[in-house]
Amino acid sequence: MTVITSPDEMTRYSSDALQRGERIGLVPTMGCLHDGHLTLMREGRRRSSVLVASIFVNPTQFGPGEDFARYPRNFERDCAMLQTVPVDIVFAPEPAAMYSPDATASVDAGEITSGLCGAHRPGHFRGVTTVVAKLFNLVKPHLAVFGEKDFQQLRAIQRMVRDLNFDVKIIPVPIVRENDGLALSSRNAYLSPAEREDALVLSLALRAAREKHRANPCCVEEIVSAAMHVLKRTKGVAIEYVEAVDAETLARHPSRDRPILIAIAARVGKTRLIDNAVLQP
Ligand code: AMP
Repeated sequence: MTVITSPDEMTRYSSDALQRGERIGLVPTMGCLHDGHLTLMREGRRRSSVLVASIFVNPTQFGPGEDFARYPRNFERDCAMLQTVPVDIVFAPEPAAMYSPDATASVDAGEITSGLCGAHRPGHFRGVTTVVAKLFNLVKPHLAVFGEKDFQQLRAIQRMVRDLNFDVKIIPVPIVRENDGLALSSRNAYLSPAEREDALVLSLALRAAREKHRANPCCVEEIVSAAMHVLKRTKGVAIEYVEAVDAETLARHPSRDRPILIAIAARVGKTRLIDNAVLQP
């Protein structure tokens, strides 16, 4: 496994690999890896001859007052985990190497980023699509793997790829959970044992929504209320949003004959967590 930190070196490596006829796969991450990330890596490994994992805590997707400075970083441990997959290249640039101080261009996926997390984290998705576009240009992957855990991010990237004709196949991977239902997340590292207990309520709320949908698939408001009701039972959890939207377009007022995304964002103590489920018609 080779670690590359220079964007120019990454480009040279990928150009050579393409000339050799390799099939390049990319899994973008912000590090502090867990089994969810490794599931994405294994999917990438299966589909590519050269697998690149990027580790980059991207400053432009964090708002003022968010956790950029204290985001958990553990490069040595991440590399040891990536070696088990195995990954061929770890691309881990410094922010200064990725962004010129006078950079002004960016990529915006439009309306699909306006609701859900986009409404609460202004500029976040522009930061995400911009850095993913940059990674695509540097790594030149045939395919890139993303988790459904960040469902709106996945849809924004799919929209960017479609609308701007990126020649990259996007591979979605379902959410990886702990045995008790908690979705794996690097931010779970912030949780105290008591908060870790409280955090379970997000997946329990999704389960309640799923059960309500199964019983009465026509009533979206009731599905949202069922999830809200469960979340409100736990004092340490502050709801940011619970929404049911069209799972493809993320538009409000989803039609009952199409898949519905139920998405939750909530704070457990100071930690912001997200989770979601897709309800099939
Ligand atoms: P992050 O390092 O949090 O930016 O995540 C990197 C990639 O891993 C993104 O595509 C995430 O959606 C994905 N990911 C994070 N947690 C999970 C999980 N529990 N299950 C599946 N994918 C995940």
